[in-house]
Amino acid sequence: MTAPLPERAALDDVLSRLVRDIPDFPKPGVMFKDISPLLADHDGLTTVVHALASAGRDAEGRTAVDKVVGIEARGFILAAPVALALGAGFVPVRKAGKLPGPVHRVSYALEYGEAVLEVHEDAVAPGERVLVIDDVLATGGTVNAAVELVGSCGGEVAAIAVLLELGFLGGREHLGAAPLLALHTV
Ligand code: AMP
Repeated sequence: MTAPLPERAALDDVLSRLVRDIPDFPKPGVMFKDISPLLADHDGLTTVVHALASAGRDAEGRTAVDKVVGIEARGFILAAPVALALGAGFVPVRKAGKLPGPVHRVSYALEYGEAVLEVHEDAVAPGERVLVIDDVLATGGTVNAAVELVGSCGGEVAAIAVLLELGFLGGREHLGAAPLLALHTV
């Protein structure tokens, strides 16, 4: 699924200008990628939403997914407008205990401890094609958990798209078969 992307140089410019580094957040040693300036910039946000949506289109530019999954919390902000741009439905993947209905659940390892993500069992119908969206790909554990949840519903992950890939962490190597679109790699 490849539709023309805005110029790679334009994306690099937008993302390097409008994502700021916050050292030692949320804990010492982490360089947090804060997308707040990007969200507050209409042109920048429009550029990245259209670029992320391209991961859900075929080579002719037609929508090739039924659902767009956003991962709590910043993934929600990006995935909802991408779903609208594609004419697809939006599905939240949430942290434990937030979704009211019956859920599929997956636990995965974090650097310290473990995390749990959930999705409503009926959020993705069997055979539906899904685009998974998050803001940052670090080790890949979070995106992998979302991919597993889509599979638990019987859906097929057609593509994964993120704003930023922290290339030095090698998360890309741990993802499955679905193609990964990273708008900017650091
Ligand atoms: P990982 O599971 O290691 O790929 O981590 C990805 C998840 O953690 C995403 O939902 C990100 O929002 C968040 N995350 C990890 N590292 C960072 C970072 N340096 N800056 C901002 N968010 C991060």
